[in-house]
Amino acid sequence: MPRRETASLKRFTRGMFARVSYVPTEGFALMRNMTPDRTFGVPEKTVYHRSIGWSFDEAGQLWVVRPVVASDGVEADFTAVAPLAERRDSPGLHREFAGLDATDAAAILDFANRWGLLGQGLRVLSTDSEADGTVYRGEPLTHWREKITDMATLLSLWDLVSDGSSSKGAPFVKWTKRPTRVHVGAVHLRGRLNASASRTVLDQYGQHGRWASACTAVPYDGSGFFWQTYGTPELLDRWQRGESTGPLRYYVHETVNKAMRGHVSPAVLPFENSRVHLFPDTLRAALYVLFALELEGFKLAPIPCAFCGKVFSPLTRRKTYCSDNCRKRSAEKKPKVGA
Ligand SMILES: [Zn+2]
Repeated sequence: MPRRETASLKRFTRGMFARVSYVPTEGFALMRNMTPDRTFGVPEKTVYHRSIGWSFDEAGQLWVVRPVVASDGVEADFTAVAPLAERRDSPGLHREFAGLDATDAAAILDFANRWGLLGQGLRVLSTDSEADGTVYRGEPLTHWREKITDMATLLSLWDLVSDGSSSKGAPFVKWTKRPTRVHVGAVHLRGRLNASASRTVLDQYGQHGRWASACTAVPYDGSGFFWQTYGTPELLDRWQRGESTGPLRYYVHETVNKAMRGHVSPAVLPFENSRVHLFPDTLRAALYVLFALELEGFKLAPIPCAFCGKVFSPLTRRKTYCSDNCRKRSAEKKPKVGA
């Protein structure tokens, strides 16, 4: 058995969430030419499902791996790390993850060495001629790139609308009539939003009613895009016609929920005074829990309102007033330049 450090639960919690990740003390390696270890019958469709990044058919793609059993037969030592508990005073590890350069293999390896794999990883073998039959566990770098980009895109959207400003989200939302629908979409290059390309795609959508034709309006340059359409009265009644902030905030919440769904489980702990905690099943799920806590306003310490002095929890660093009311009243009080 690998040696595992034991430590008190408290070290690994954030609020009622808890997560322990184990990283190999020796670290991960970047390797090419990996193939699934079929000893335990890895299902073909799991392995070859391109949309989740488990693709083995791109010759030479890099993997983040560690040996399951080293060639000397000794299993690796692991260190327990606490992705939810670290950097309590900062926006959180999810922002560090989203800020990784998805093209920088060394930066991704460094993150994995500090926080472990994003998921469970797959058992793989090297197909190099000099391979010694060592079994590895790891994830393809393309999987990491995709997940970094997903998180970066969503955080970019959230940063546009989190302070409640009304106009910055406008390029990413289009309302259409008969029937009333609101379309949310963005073209991005590795998580950086492209407002004009997004506007073009959304406007083309309005004319042709099909994304397939809309997307040809933007030359493909390695960008990704996403879209979502909302049309239920329960949602539309909550939003002003033509507004962008409400639908974008909803899209962000919905996407974070999808990422957590089925990946966070409650447990009552027999050796911890029977306390109940919620456990994300992977590092990726833990990162989305941090995103959810940011949405809840967990991210920043409470501060006094710059106008009325009431203590409140700001959603962003830029927010200094407890409410729109205080922001407006403060602006009215200031003498206008040149007046
Ligand atoms: Zn106030």
